[in-house]
Amino acid sequence: RAGDVLARLGGDEFAVLLEGLSGALEAELVARSILEVVAEPFQVDGREVKVTTSIGISVYPNDNNDTGTLLKNADIAMYQAKEKGRNNFKFFTERMHDDLVAYHELERDIREAISTESFRLVFQPKVNLITRKLQGLEALLRWQHPDRGKVSPMEFIPVAEQSGHIVPLGNWVFNEVCRTINRWKARGLPVVPVAINVSARQFQQPDFYRRVANTLSRHAIDPALIEIELTEGLLMEDTASVQRSLQQLKDIGVRISIDDFGTGHSCLNYLRRFPIDVLKIDKSFVHDVDHTDDSAIIIDAIISLARSLQLDTVAEGVETREQLNFLVDRGCQVAQGFLFGQPMQARDVLPFLEDLIEDDPGFVTSRLAASEIA
Ligand code: C2E
Ligand code: CA
Ligand code: CA
Repeated sequence: RAGDVLARLGGDEFAVLLEGLSGALEAELVARSILEVVAEPFQVDGREVKVTTSIGISVYPNDNNDTGTLLKNADIAMYQAKEKGRNNFKFFTERMHDDLVAYHELERDIREAISTESFRLVFQPKVNLITRKLQGLEALLRWQHPDRGKVSPMEFIPVAEQSGHIVPLGNWVFNEVCRTINRWKARGLPVVPVAINVSARQFQQPDFYRRVANTLSRHAIDPALIEIELTEGLLMEDTASVQRSLQQLKDIGVRISIDDFGTGHSCLNYLRRFPIDVLKIDKSFVHDVDHTDDSAIIIDAIISLARSLQLDTVAEGVETREQLNFLVDRGCQVAQGFLFGQPMQARDVLPFLEDLIEDDPGFVTSRLAASEIA
């Protein structure tokens, strides 16, 4: 309309000021037509060019009556729109503001906890289903927040990822795993491979493999004792550089495992191209195996796929005897879950390691028998 204001704030950011609207719906109509108009392709030097738009809307006086805050709220909503995918608009909500404040608090506390080394690692056993002995361990982060108590990695890992703190935190995890392995060794115990979860942002650092190699050699750890767990989503991105990074890790001698297999965009092509050793069957399939046929079929398919590609399979989240029997029946080699052991402190792993020296009946078998009686 004549009298509406369009202003360039800087870079590729613009503000539209609409006065005297009858309601928020009118703002939405304007947003929609802006999206539509900007989405039209146009020609630059004979080439077709397309531009995408993300719009955040804040409304006076509902959201705030301070100009700066209104602009800031529109900005927050704009980032939400961007996250939803390009060519979108979003109205600002109180909830967005609260989420942002919560994010910044958690981000600050993670930074603090890294510098004071307040994170801990626990280890969850992976059991060989044929020998019923310990096959490996998975290292998992734990955080006791000074005010909030235990905070789940499901909550703090995404914030650590987004803020970049996952890089120093991930380095700490690698070092702590190495120190723990060496403590077990110092007791004269046999050691098993330890799996470390690595998130996209860590993996994508240039020279990630070199950092890993340096850490291992500094602690004199055999790379064969380290397995790296990556999620499927990560492997779908820029394949050339992912392939190079995986090969570099592989050349050091660490094993590579695909976590939560079957839950991502399963483009099976990457399984052949990438140097992968293990598929971890996601716990949602294992959990449902007792009551839905679909999960049983999917597990079957994953195991036979792995077998023909000569990959190992690890089933996660095994909680019941029925799930265990199903997996053994289908030829799954290794399993992990509360049935065999919760994630535990390093010292509680000792009996599992001692069990590797002794003859049958194994520690795991006797634990299983005990759990049956209980
Ligand atoms: P994940 O890698 O899939 O880890 C397995 C999760 O399942 C763990 O949750 C574990 O405690 C839980 N779990 C194990 N057995 C069972 C079972 O029998 N039943 C059920 N219901 N759950 C079981 P946790 O420790 O809360 O970790 C959650 C996620 O946080 C992990 O999922 C992983 O993605 C991430 N994470 C944890 N530690 C690290 C880390 O050091 N680095 C990175 N990048 N991510 C981590
Ligand atoms: Ca994992
Ligand atoms: Ca998993």
